[in-house]
Amino acid sequence: MRDKKQFMELKKLTTFHIGGRAKYYYVVNSIAELKKRLAAIRRRKIKYYILGSGSNILVQDRILLGAVIKLGPGFGKIAHQGGKIIAGGAVTIPKLLSYCVKHNLSGAEFLWGIPGTLGGAVMGNAGTRDKSISIIIKSIAGITGLGNVEKIPAEKISFTYRGSNISDIFIITEVELALHKSSIHVIKKKIDTYRQLRSQQPRGYSAGCVFKNPSGQSAGALIEFAGLKGQTNGGAVISQKHANFIINKNGQAKAKNVWELITRIRKTVRQTSGITLALEIKTWGEFK
Ligand SMILES: Cc1cc2nc3c(=O)[nH]c(=O)nc-3n(C[C@H](O)[C@H](O)[C@H](O)COP(=O)(O)OP(=O)(O)OC[C@H]3O[C@@H](n4cnc5c(N)ncnc54)[C@H](O)[C@@H]3O)c2cc1C
Repeated sequence: MRDKKQFMELKKLTTFHIGGRAKYYYVVNSIAELKKRLAAIRRRKIKYYILGSGSNILVQDRILLGAVIKLGPGFGKIAHQGGKIIAGGAVTIPKLLSYCVKHNLSGAEFLWGIPGTLGGAVMGNAGTRDKSISIIIKSIAGITGLGNVEKIPAEKISFTYRGSNISDIFIITEVELALHKSSIHVIKKKIDTYRQLRSQQPRGYSAGCVFKNPSGQSAGALIEFAGLKGQTNGGAVISQKHANFIINKNGQAKAKNVWELITRIRKTVRQTSGITLALEIKTWGEFK
């Protein structure tokens, strides 16, 4: 498995702009290629990670042992028939929404502003406060760690708030979405509403909301109540605009700085509100 893609710097591939190098890094463009890579990974008994747009992960600073697999343009195709869209796991949410606007397809507007891929969005059941991508998923297709290709209907998947029971080594290669035809005017109006909501979001290098909202509560409000807004550690800062965002202010913060802030937030919120915040972002590597 040694080739020129060894030791890829992951900070270049995450929206946090944080992360050490991956021992192995593969961009794959077909199921055949995926099967080949997975067979080699099994032979070597190494761990693998699936990378989308890197907009929901915190990657350790040290070398990440194992392989990082990224779906390439071969998995970036999109097509529709009536209201049914079939899109590759590497299709980004912005690309999906441009496609919907072009073809008068409605139902996915609430995803506006989410910078990830469809694969990542399905895995984390991405969405807003009141809607998640699971409401428009008909089925997903992908490949297991053993190299078996599977298609799973949505009814067989258990989606939760920002999560699902999909195995974290199942590589989502295709997603089928159920949308409906509408007028361009209606679609653009809906998108505008979501765009306006986004204007309150902090800018800068981040991975979006760090913690899940506890039932009936806002993680951001709990962090603010704990008096943590604006606190820093190295180049990492708890956003003044939205306390559930940690920003890598100058692009120089390390995963260690972010993790220490996360630990501080959890401890303080537990003391001030009695609530233990659960992570929304995924961590890759060792964090203690
Ligand atoms: C500014 C900003 C705003 C955001 N706003 C929102 C929001 O409103 N709502 C929301 O839910 N999220 C939001 N996010 C978080 C993030 O964009 C979403 O979670 C997104 O769906 C992650 O997709 P990704 O491709 O970047 O996944 P990555 O970050 O690359 O990966 C996330 C997880 O998904 C897995 N994964 C990725 N691709 C695949 C695949 N093809 N098959 C299987 N597993 C895969 C990874 O292994 C990892 O466990 C925001 C992030 C940022 C930076």
